[in-house]
Amino acid sequence: MSPLQSNNSTTSSTTTDCETSNCCSTVSTDNSATNGTANNGIDSDIDTACYNWEKLADSVLAGHAITYAEGEAILGAPDNQLLSILAASYKIRHRYFANTIQLYFLMNAKSGLCPEDCSYCSQSKISKAPIEKYNLLNREKIMAGAQEAVDRQSKTYCIVISARGPSEREIQAIEKMVPEIKEKHDLHICTSLGLLTDEQAIRLKACGVDRVNHNLNTGPTHYEKICTTHTFEDRINTLHSVRKAGMEICSGGIIGMGETTTDLVEMALKLRELEAESIPINFLNAIDGTPLEKQDDLSPSYCLKALALFRFANPSREIRISGGREIHLRSLQPLGLYPANSMFVGDYLTTDGQLPEQDYQMIKDLGFQITKNETYEV
Ligand code: SF4
Repeated sequence: MSPLQSNNSTTSSTTTDCETSNCCSTVSTDNSATNGTANNGIDSDIDTACYNWEKLADSVLAGHAITYAEGEAILGAPDNQLLSILAASYKIRHRYFANTIQLYFLMNAKSGLCPEDCSYCSQSKISKAPIEKYNLLNREKIMAGAQEAVDRQSKTYCIVISARGPSEREIQAIEKMVPEIKEKHDLHICTSLGLLTDEQAIRLKACGVDRVNHNLNTGPTHYEKICTTHTFEDRINTLHSVRKAGMEICSGGIIGMGETTTDLVEMALKLRELEAESIPINFLNAIDGTPLEKQDDLSPSYCLKALALFRFANPSREIRISGGREIHLRSLQPLGLYPANSMFVGDYLTTDGQLPEQDYQMIKDLGFQITKNETYEV
């Protein structure tokens, strides 16, 4: 039995026994809840007395894989347990990363012009957002981005294109540029080029790409509600191609697209199954002109619980606070770095991030250190 002594029913109320689990809570795991507001600390059947999140963290550190019900319990916990949840998630994070922060720098190497219809994306064929549209940037611009990544103390330079998948010309350009970047800079290279075939993945690996980003974005059931031009399974297949080619997997999602807590837990556990090395967590920036422009149901505390969920589910993996952190975590941004150990520094694909100096100050104020190491097991 897990430390939360829970079952896996779709809608359950789980009571634990203090004698056996150091816990005296009743946690609602109502799967109908969506993000933030509905499940934001006011569920009527939650007794907040003494849920033992630290014990769950200890159990995870001893090898326990959290269950669906435990994942739902984290998301459904009342706000007066938020600091306990964050402290427990920090205990896990500290085991693998101590107080280090890994920084990432993103280059939108091809913007707009995408034939897909992802409803959250300002670059999709159905988006009316007034964004810059351009084809693959030239070598000079991509090399300049690499220098900027170095200047910003980034461990990884992420080269992203908007596309269903890369064209032959784009793959060839990557094959040419990546060795040049790696010869000049001590940078990890992550590419995000859309869906990949086995053969394309092998070519990326051969030219020096360390890692490929391809986000699951949401849970499998919710996927068809946010995109109709490709499937969740298509994305999984690309991640399998990446793994088979011998590269690391970077895959995460976007919170706040109308998904249920169950969808989110499913995504967290799917990423565990895939053994994704790197998990970027975005919070929907509802961009005007996209189908999700009116979607707005996140609270800072829910976003923090979601980050904790991903840490509990993927204890030793990089959890990166990504797009939308400034909007949805707001004044609680620093707390996000207790479960997470990584962040982007600078702007996102089509939206602005906060100034790098503000990020450096936040890291310094937390007493954390920027690192280029993979892990820091203590
Ligand atoms: S495939 Fe990528 S770039 Fe294209 S619409 Fe979807 S998220 Fe946007």
